[in-house]
Amino acid sequence: MNKTFGGVWIFGDYRDYFQNRITLQLIAKGRELAETLNTGTTVVLLGDQIHQYAMEYVAHGADTVIVADHQNLKEYEVEKYTTLLAQWVKSYQPEIFLAGATSFGREFFPRLAKRLRTGLSADCVDLEVDPESFLLVQTTPAFGGELLAEVVTPDRRPQMATVHPGVFRELPHNAESVGHIIYPEVDVFPEPRVKIVRSKPQRTGKVSLEDASVVIAGGKGLGSKEQFELLYELAELLEGEVGATRPAVLSGWAGEDRLLGQTGKSVNAKLVISIGTSGALQYITGIQGAETVIAINRNPDAPVFRIVDLGLVADAATVLPILLETLRRRL
Ligand SMILES: Cc1cc2nc3c(=O)[nH]c(=O)nc-3n(C[C@H](O)[C@H](O)[C@H](O)COP(=O)(O)OP(=O)(O)OC[C@H]3O[C@@H](n4cnc5c(N)ncnc54)[C@H](O)[C@@H]3O)c2cc1C
Repeated sequence: MNKTFGGVWIFGDYRDYFQNRITLQLIAKGRELAETLNTGTTVVLLGDQIHQYAMEYVAHGADTVIVADHQNLKEYEVEKYTTLLAQWVKSYQPEIFLAGATSFGREFFPRLAKRLRTGLSADCVDLEVDPESFLLVQTTPAFGGELLAEVVTPDRRPQMATVHPGVFRELPHNAESVGHIIYPEVDVFPEPRVKIVRSKPQRTGKVSLEDASVVIAGGKGLGSKEQFELLYELAELLEGEVGATRPAVLSGWAGEDRLLGQTGKSVNAKLVISIGTSGALQYITGIQGAETVIAINRNPDAPVFRIVDLGLVADAATVLPILLETLRRRL
């Protein structure tokens, strides 16, 4: 590795901390990458009175947290964030800089990459350090999601990527962890051209697929909204959540907030039961983080069977009532 560059940096997105786990997932992956590069993992954090988040990130594995704590940073403003982060990158020279592919990361991270004249891969579904070149291999869907491309940034630094939430698994909280917390002087801010008058969180209901330990996922093969509704009963019995493929959402059987996959959510569940789904790559991206995947499909050649732990070749309309009846009796 070229030792003139710094370590692995992660942008600290602490909004809605207990639901939004992307920063913790990136810290866990960042540690793996940093180990191969023989360097450390640093979270950069901007806001007002945010010390408690710095402590949390150390407890979840960050070696260092750089905190810009200032009342002028109470509200997110893209120009302030971009300017401050660009200054820090120039001073500390990280090798890699990662952010979540959230609405937040998608807005300011490309601006930052442009300002730093470096490359950025968006919406990555995997990251590895090549053991020979020590370059970050950024795996991201390309050509409309038809294939996965491996992208490297050979010359420019930092190597930047936004990462799909839910593809990596966070490390458990360890209150004994020790790390450095740095508070650099922050008193120069750009004159913003946009003024935030008021912001209020959007109410989106209670669907939290990313945190569910069981996910029942339904696809077009269920054939009707009535059949799809049975998944809610199954999910309730197994204390899980219901997810859906794109065609199921387009058919009006489930809301967009239940969409799994490249353009939807990725799960970290212990168990996914995937019913009437063919197993398209764009969908699989959303469930590949699960510990165990069971699929039910009437076609023995369905691609979904290539990635499952247990496959059942059967008609969903026959299996679902039996499964529900059996569980109702046992639970
Ligand atoms: C740029 C792009 C992004 C995309 N992003 C996403 C995404 O984020 N998420 C997503 O899901 N898709 C996405 N797609 C669409 C994706 O390519 C697939 O078309 C989609 O995942 C297929 O959904 P499905 O499995 O429900 O339907 P189908 O492909 O139609 O599969 C239905 C399956 O059900 C089985 N079946 C039929 N009847 C029964 C029955 N009675 N019992 C049991 N099994 C039965 C069939 O054998 C078949 O395998 C994207 C596509 C593009 C181009």
